[in-house]
Amino acid sequence: MTSKTLSLTTICLLAYGGAMFNAQASPTSSLKTSLTPEKFHFKYNLHKSLPDAWVTEFKKKMDFLEELLPITSNINQVFTDPFMNVYAWKTGETNPFPEKPGISGSSISGSSMILEMSADSFSNGDVQRVVHEYFHVYQIGLSKDAMMPKWLIEGGANAFEEIDYQQYEGKRALDQELENNVSKYVFTNPKLFEKYQTSSNDPAGKQMDINYGSSTFMVLALVKELRKQGISEQRAFEMVFRDFWIENSKQRRISRENLEWEKSFETVFKISIETFYSRLMSKYTHAGFKEVLPSKTLEVQQIFVAK
Ligand SMILES: [Zn+2]
Repeated sequence: MTSKTLSLTTICLLAYGGAMFNAQASPTSSLKTSLTPEKFHFKYNLHKSLPDAWVTEFKKKMDFLEELLPITSNINQVFTDPFMNVYAWKTGETNPFPEKPGISGSSISGSSMILEMSADSFSNGDVQRVVHEYFHVYQIGLSKDAMMPKWLIEGGANAFEEIDYQQYEGKRALDQELENNVSKYVFTNPKLFEKYQTSSNDPAGKQMDINYGSSTFMVLALVKELRKQGISEQRAFEMVFRDFWIENSKQRRISRENLEWEKSFETVFKISIETFYSRLMSKYTHAGFKEVLPSKTLEVQQIFVAK
């Protein structure tokens, strides 16, 4: 088992439970907009239990991500503060941040990034979980927290993380993940993966989306369908990673779980969600996972062209 596989065994939960974006400008926000807004930034709370080499890699990766995927100022409509605290420490220590009781694992929780790092993840400076969590902040910013459906949230973060890993670590973990972690429900009832609640365990108690392998397969199948429309691989990933979330920010929403994201899907991808699901069920199989793998030469800089 590679350290990559080990580092991902802790399932990331997008645990953001904050307030919905409020379209009605309050007196406070109109006052805020008259001032020059502070650029959204990350505040590092890095515990001394973390090895120096990891901390160096972490900072390097965060600088790289902030350059490649800047967090849009829209995020100031989601979070009260113009910054996000990052709490990172090594597993085994009792939570060293008493101001954040009960934190564990890795997630975006409220307006914090939680990174509890296992010893395995230090063997080769593995910072892939940072990439995954950062990508969620990017999605939240673009969409103004219109975060639906789950398979595009998690499959997107995971696919991006894997392309980055392939490019910068020179290794590929995605083929193994797809081989081992794709549920049969992707091909029988993909709608289940729209929500966290309906895609955790199947009736037999088996996990349906281990390391988000199922969600990732769906994202890669969507990219393949877009390529059939004559769209390049780079552009197809940009549409999935970026354009969809911008479009989602425009949809009417009653609650976080009640959002007309299907409209964004059709607008951006020029295919209805029903058509996509029916193609997934009729044209794709788990055994054919190699057909959806991204090119080995794909680079993240080629994907994010539009700013
Ligand atoms: Zn995630």
